[in-house]
Amino acid sequence: MSGMVSHKGTRTDTKITKKTFVPFLLTLRLCVKLIVVLMLPLGVSAQTRAIDWPKYQDMAVDLMQQYLRVNTSNPPGNEIEATRFLKKVFDQHGIESETFEYKPGRANIIARLKGNGSKRPIILLNHMDVVTAEPASWEVDPFAAIVKNGSIYGRGALDMKGEGLLQLMTMILLKEEGPPLARDVIFLGTADEEVNDEGSLWMIANKSSLFKDAEYLITEGGDNLLENGAVKIVGVDVAEKAPFWLRLTATGLPGHGSRPVSDSATNRLIRAMNRILDWETPVKLLPAVEQFFKDVAPLQPEPLRSEFANIRQSLIDPVFAKAMGSQREFNFLLRNTISITMLSGSKQTNVIPNAATCNLDVRLLPGESPEEFLKSLTAVIADPTIKIERVNRFKPPNSSPTNTELFSLIARKAKENHPGTIVTTKLLSGYTESQLYRQLGIVAYGWSPIYTTPEEDEGVHGNNERISVKNVREGTRELYEIVRDISR
Ligand SMILES: [Zn+2]
Repeated sequence: MSGMVSHKGTRTDTKITKKTFVPFLLTLRLCVKLIVVLMLPLGVSAQTRAIDWPKYQDMAVDLMQQYLRVNTSNPPGNEIEATRFLKKVFDQHGIESETFEYKPGRANIIARLKGNGSKRPIILLNHMDVVTAEPASWEVDPFAAIVKNGSIYGRGALDMKGEGLLQLMTMILLKEEGPPLARDVIFLGTADEEVNDEGSLWMIANKSSLFKDAEYLITEGGDNLLENGAVKIVGVDVAEKAPFWLRLTATGLPGHGSRPVSDSATNRLIRAMNRILDWETPVKLLPAVEQFFKDVAPLQPEPLRSEFANIRQSLIDPVFAKAMGSQREFNFLLRNTISITMLSGSKQTNVIPNAATCNLDVRLLPGESPEEFLKSLTAVIADPTIKIERVNRFKPPNSSPTNTELFSLIARKAKENHPGTIVTTKLLSGYTESQLYRQLGIVAYGWSPIYTTPEEDEGVHGNNERISVKNVREGTRELYEIVRDISR
């Protein structure tokens, strides 16, 4: 239907001679007639009819419970069960979907609502696997989806079957109630995000033609703050740091512990680690981080309020910079960081080993070069006998711009739905699947209309993970309206 409209548009731009004019006019009339006829039962009535929200909100709560009962603890994942559940729902609503079982029990699912192609697609990305749960530490069965005190309990309620469910509801609502779409809306459910990203890596390696032309992607990663029942902060993840994990190995003369070797492997390694601990990596203020401090400044007491509001200026003061560096929640935003994590040396107290190792969990800011960092680190270690190796698949530091139609829409809608809220950008210290899709040139935002208290956040990868029924009901409408508005 909308295809004809654009066809008509292009025809009027071409030169019309007298000879072609009459047949053209006839075709045009026919087209218009067809458009009118087609629009009456479908487009017009669907657009003007009020949506029966309670019906869809009840459906959302019911489907949320069903989805949480599908056990996709990873390992082993078994996401094929989740794809079966989702496919059944898509089938019930006449939405085409395709499942890819890339290895036994491990599968991704993609569903698509076609637009007229005048805008590039938007992807609703959600991982279907969840981390394991220790039932003995939970108040309720983590896979029973029991409703208690207004919340639905279940592993994955927040990470991230809750958002996946809202994305599913958006597909249903667009199909049943939505306007004609200008862009394809793609639902992509993936396997294995919690362990190795196998699902997304497989899709990108084998099926990227299905989605790589997308303009936007929405997935997990945002961080919203609910306080005393009010949404205080809506955080959109626009950038993620890159894990750049390293192993240091020192070697030296072995021997008996009773006769010390001053430059033994362990001693050399400890000296190197001390130099690393004393190294203050340079402060770098990214635009998204500067924006974050400005956005949250009004929530701070003085003098922090003014210091955050002028963060670039404030950081020039070494005392202030030092104080910020000592705060866990701010330090990682401002620099590349290093945590010394794994350590190993001798297995026996009286044996000086010939090798000692430690692993560094290095996280680089977006825009940083791992090679440059390695050069600086090597200089800090200042011991050419210590071997430095990379130990992970490098995930490049990544970010998406904020001067986009989607970001503005999310911000505007958030303020409409939650007057007084602050919308801000987030740099994640960890990483989500966004980093894989940003590499394809897709603008990816970690955001969802799920608002949680810090106490509820503890359920993520912890015990008693839950999502409030209110979030499921209201989130259904909030996500739908944003995807609808960006897609028409
Ligand atoms: Zn997750």
